[in-house]
Amino acid sequence: MKRILATVAIVLLAGCNPARAQDEPIDVEGPPAELTGLKLEAARIVGDKQKLTQEIVDSLFSFSELGFQEFETQRYITEILENNGFTVEQGVSGIPSAWWATWGSGKPVIALGSDVDGIPKASQMPGVTYRKPMIEGAPGHGEGHNSGQAVNITAALAVKEIMERENLPGTIVLWPGIAEELVATKAWFARDGRYDGVDAVLFTHVSDSFSVSWGQPTGTGLVSVEYTFDGTAAHAAGDPWKGTSALDAVELMDVAWNFRREHLNPLQRSHYVIVDGGDQPNVVPSKATVWYFIREMTADNIRENFAKLQRTAEGAALMTDTTFTRRIVGAAYPRHFNKPIAEAMYDNIRAVGMPEWSEDDQVFAKAFQEFMEADEITGLKTEVEDLGVPLEEPKSGGSDDIGDVSWNVPTVTLRFPSNVDGSTGHHWSSAMAMATPIAHKGATAGAKVVAATMLDLIEQESLVDAAWTYFRDEQTANETYVPFISDTDKPAIEKNAAIMAMYKDKLREFYYDPSKYDTYLEQLGIEYPQLKDPDAE
Ligand SMILES: [Zn+2]
Repeated sequence: MKRILATVAIVLLAGCNPARAQDEPIDVEGPPAELTGLKLEAARIVGDKQKLTQEIVDSLFSFSELGFQEFETQRYITEILENNGFTVEQGVSGIPSAWWATWGSGKPVIALGSDVDGIPKASQMPGVTYRKPMIEGAPGHGEGHNSGQAVNITAALAVKEIMERENLPGTIVLWPGIAEELVATKAWFARDGRYDGVDAVLFTHVSDSFSVSWGQPTGTGLVSVEYTFDGTAAHAAGDPWKGTSALDAVELMDVAWNFRREHLNPLQRSHYVIVDGGDQPNVVPSKATVWYFIREMTADNIRENFAKLQRTAEGAALMTDTTFTRRIVGAAYPRHFNKPIAEAMYDNIRAVGMPEWSEDDQVFAKAFQEFMEADEITGLKTEVEDLGVPLEEPKSGGSDDIGDVSWNVPTVTLRFPSNVDGSTGHHWSSAMAMATPIAHKGATAGAKVVAATMLDLIEQESLVDAAWTYFRDEQTANETYVPFISDTDKPAIEKNAAIMAMYKDKLREFYYDPSKYDTYLEQLGIEYPQLKDPDAE
């Protein structure tokens, strides 16, 4: 009802919109259409596969792998896909932990993607509303990237079953967002032609709500770049005048950039970490490396700020008599999502609706929000969001390298409700719900929407045509995709190797064993929802 009133109000406020013909009916949305035909059947099959969905969500949570090191995830997922008749290519685009899985033949080619990597130091027990790392200092799923593959695989298997029976032509591609937290692979997949011949990409991402949008969403694109300075070592006390310090160059570069910020467009976001600041204080550092993310709303502005950063590095080298090299570590184009596919997906979101949360789920969510000192204790959302449309005022924020995909092929991102509102991003609190019934139910609801949208694309050639018409005539008519990476930039596959090597054996003790335990919470001995730490004094 709220929605109908809002739509009427907008129409009234708009007055005589010249774009709207006089005799065109007023667009008031009624109750959501229900899924019918093959889409209804697909949703039923997805429902029957809830156990598989839960096992994938819980397994990836337990692996807790960081970007470029998702090897348990790769082993586990590709085994499921091969057992279900998919042809799997391992280690694509020079990324050892990546894979590409295909099944079927002919058009349309529908590619389903979702990220799989975790966040450093985000280890956290699931299903509890207090801070308790599973392993102190270890990585964890502090963004919820353990849930998207479950959505895509369940949807793909349901649609495959129907396609086989109905003899429907079409190809399903399943691919992972490797190292999304480093925004470091999708531009490489695109560069290497992985999306050539693909008709549509349905990407899925965890959220606390159920939504899809078209055009440019909230958030930025970025270039991720490392600057390594070269100086001369010397005894820092005996003859420091013989040395030139690479660390001095890094620090001067950072100071200069922090002054520069004041004069940049406020929508920019930029941040850095010093990944190598030298070895020990009594040796003048001959090598030092600083790693920057340069974020802005448009590709041109990203390039402009990147050029400023480059000059800042040059200045720092001049000041310190050092030299430097630069390496692109990641890239993410500002995203642009496809309107016709988003509209079709939105109808499916409304038809599927929010999961039916249990009393326990709501108790957990409210206790979680209290623990996080949320402004409002609202519990889990019970209504789907409105269709997201381009913002009148651009809004800054994070990035996702799905942006590069979205400029190569019509793409949308489904945000499915597997997490709780009130968590902090890139933080252990975002892991707390991610192996609970909330995550499982959200993934099942998401899979129903993905399956239904796949069938829309398979059953209606006109939808694929409309998607490409929008892509060609609206999205790319005035903007050309010029990748931030070159033909020779290599993926930064060594990233996170040292951290994972440090924690792998400890993590292994926590891997989920579905043959012994119904759920991961059961394996961990957690009585959901667990609001108080039984070990606390
Ligand atoms: Zn993410």
